[in-house]
Amino acid sequence: RNLKWIIKCRGDIDTLNAPFLEIYESLIPPEEEKAKQKQLLASLEKLVCKEWPEARLYLYGSCANSFGVSKSDIDVCLAINDADLNKSEVLLKLADILQSDNLQNVQALTRARVPIVKLRDPVTGISCDICINNVLAVVNTKLLRDYAEIDGRLRQLAFIVKHWAKSRRINETYQGTLSSYAYVLMCIHFLQQRRPAILPCLQGIEATYSVTVEDVECAFFDQVENLRNFGSHNKETIAHLVWAFFSYWAYGHDYANSVISVREGSTISKRKKDWTRRVGNDRHLICIEDPFETSHDLGRVVDKFSIRVLRGEFERAAEIMQHDPNPCIKLFEPY
Ligand code: ATP
Ligand code: MG
Repeated sequence: RNLKWIIKCRGDIDTLNAPFLEIYESLIPPEEEKAKQKQLLASLEKLVCKEWPEARLYLYGSCANSFGVSKSDIDVCLAINDADLNKSEVLLKLADILQSDNLQNVQALTRARVPIVKLRDPVTGISCDICINNVLAVVNTKLLRDYAEIDGRLRQLAFIVKHWAKSRRINETYQGTLSSYAYVLMCIHFLQQRRPAILPCLQGIEATYSVTVEDVECAFFDQVENLRNFGSHNKETIAHLVWAFFSYWAYGHDYANSVISVREGSTISKRKKDWTRRVGNDRHLICIEDPFETSHDLGRVVDKFSIRVLRGEFERAAEIMQHDPNPCIKLFEPY
């Protein structure tokens, strides 16, 4: 490990709290945006129920996990209980229905890793992706939302990290960088690791919520209203946490041997997961275990080129947080 990890934080770090909080607040979606999303969901549900009366629509992703910034697209899951359902056929049928209802840019992507129909609603201006029976995503959405309720610093940190990743164009899985979902898990893991810890490990406490989805048992403690004081012994401010987050990913994380695991509330060894070598396209150059699909490494999209880009960006951000006179501007400069 690099010894730089024990660097001392700049002395004036707390002067950065107000500007970081201002950025955070400017990213929060206004109430009317939430209302429009609900309105769109309701009208989609009406359409869908004409064809499949038993079907239900669920919001998932950032519009439902509380990590959505203003003007995000919404992610919708169509849940149909039908054992011999052909997803492609349903998607094509769905695209037909939506098209004839004047929704714009309707497109069925039946060959994607997660097949979806894309559309844009001309009334609200919202773009939307609809997938089918992706119940695991609905459950991991709940896990993220529950974590966000425990300590407000998670939402602040994750908004800033997502905003940084989007500005620096390293939030593009098709280009070998990480999904928003992966960045939020990195933030949760990081806050579980602070001493005193700011977040608990919800999957390590006796479960109060449990569902089995596609043979995966998803169980965790979800009575988070009882954990509202969990992080109160740790007084670190948002500016300090942003600084420490980037230092951790620049200098502290052991990329060669460690996997971050929100499920365990700690890092675990790559050897234990057998993630030590490339298998097919999975290179395991940065390892982020999915909390439920534990054989799934969210870092698998990262290749030998994009790992350098990513680590370079973590180092750039750490350097700015340590030395730059104006980090709140410099950090988010477009790539
Ligand atoms: P953004 O604000 O950037 O849209 P998001 O949280 O909606 O952020 P997406 O990448 O759109 O992120 O993903 C939507 C949801 O799909 C995630 O919140 C998560 O529930 C699920 N998801 C995304 N990628 C994965 C993945 N690789 N494995 C499992 N679930 C995933
Ligand atoms: Mg999304």
